[in-house]
Amino acid sequence: MTKELPDNIHRLPVEPRIIPRSDHNISRNDISDNALKVLYRLANAGYKAYLVGGGVRDLLLDIKPKDFDVVTDAHPEQIRELFRNCRLIGRRFRLAHVRFGPEIIEVSTFRACHSGGEGDTESSDGRILRDNVYGDIDDDVWRRDFSVNALFYNIDDFSIVDYVGGMNDIRDRQLRLIGDPQARYREDPVRMLRAIRFAAKLDFSIHADSARPIPVLATLLNDIPPARLFEEFIKLFLGGTAHKTYELLCEYDLFTYLFPQSAAMIKTHAQHGELLRHAFNNTDQRLAENKPVTPGFLVAALLWAPVRQLADEHERHGLPELEALHLAGDAVVSRQVSQVALPRRITLMAREIWTMQSRLKRRQGKRPLRLLSHPRFRAAYDFLLLRAQSGEHVTDLAEWWQNLQQEHPDAVAAGKPRGEQVRKRRRPRRRSNPSGDGR
Ligand code: ATP
Ligand code: MG
Repeated sequence: MTKELPDNIHRLPVEPRIIPRSDHNISRNDISDNALKVLYRLANAGYKAYLVGGGVRDLLLDIKPKDFDVVTDAHPEQIRELFRNCRLIGRRFRLAHVRFGPEIIEVSTFRACHSGGEGDTESSDGRILRDNVYGDIDDDVWRRDFSVNALFYNIDDFSIVDYVGGMNDIRDRQLRLIGDPQARYREDPVRMLRAIRFAAKLDFSIHADSARPIPVLATLLNDIPPARLFEEFIKLFLGGTAHKTYELLCEYDLFTYLFPQSAAMIKTHAQHGELLRHAFNNTDQRLAENKPVTPGFLVAALLWAPVRQLADEHERHGLPELEALHLAGDAVVSRQVSQVALPRRITLMAREIWTMQSRLKRRQGKRPLRLLSHPRFRAAYDFLLLRAQSGEHVTDLAEWWQNLQQEHPDAVAAGKPRGEQVRKRRRPRRRSNPSGDGR
């Protein structure tokens, strides 16, 4: 049976290529036990069950997948009947989250995506919603973004099902949108950011046809709700390849839709670009060493130049530096959050780091010692180092603080956030915030 394909999909061969187990490298040993459990239970109940998306792609590339997504012909209620530890989420399209301790396996039902033209509406997260209905695997494949994300690993015979030439693109290490690239970006502009993210993470090229429309359509990102851009921001910059991602975002004119104030200054202030490069490299390195990273620190770096510029202006009008930094920080942050909805805990940390830059200049009296045990001292000091690295004239100041820390390790330890402190407590402290949010 031939199915009608959505308008924006070129006539692609609808017969899939089946790659048998003997011809690919995906072994069940590399799939999480929980994902296997889900796949087998669905299959044993008589449903079709496939691993799909990033999990399959990454395994083919010998990368450890971040998570595993499963797709099936079982409907959400049927999925729920099979798994006690299951929660249905989403309104228009319900997905099942099957939870095993910290691991969540996302199980979705095959979806068809018929382009209805007049029936299209825009969702609250900026995507065009089509008249979506449940379908089969050969419907589901076309709604996916890149060919390498549309490979299905069949638990029935361990083969891979490839409708879109994804295996060849894995081999050629390239990202190619399924269907007409312009139409697919218009349908969901976040795919432009996803192209960059995967290109950086996988070290893939973007096929010329999928690359060409990006700078032209980049402005469509202005229609994406700031909350969704925040989710993407985290994935783009805290995935271990922030530096490469940043370079590609600039190359494709996308960076300005995430951090407009910062992007405006890169062209005129080379030092700002330097600071960002160092910040991204540090972040990537910390992640590679399994050290914790804080988005607040990155945001402090991303907005430092615009904050500094505005603060300078306030100072020229007679405000003291600390107050100028406060005011500038408020203004720059409030413009920024209308583009990318950075949560308050993140912007608060960035603002503290900025104002601490002024306090770090005061070296007289008892103040410096007190500052050593400030909970934000470490972040503020690291930020000072970053500024020194990028060519700001603060190297002497950074050295001075380094010496002070060496002379007073106790004061430094006292400022470390809870958890990092090596200090015995006689009595367990009562939780002041039972939600455990810690804020
Ligand atoms: P990773 O999890 O490593 O970030 P991923 O490819 O698994 O990468 P997810 O966001 O987890 O990305 O999405 C899972 C799959 O869902 C994708 O591989 C793709 O097939 C499909 N998908 C996700 N977002 C989109 C989108 N915006 N447009 C089309 N398909 C999408
Ligand atoms: Mg995934």
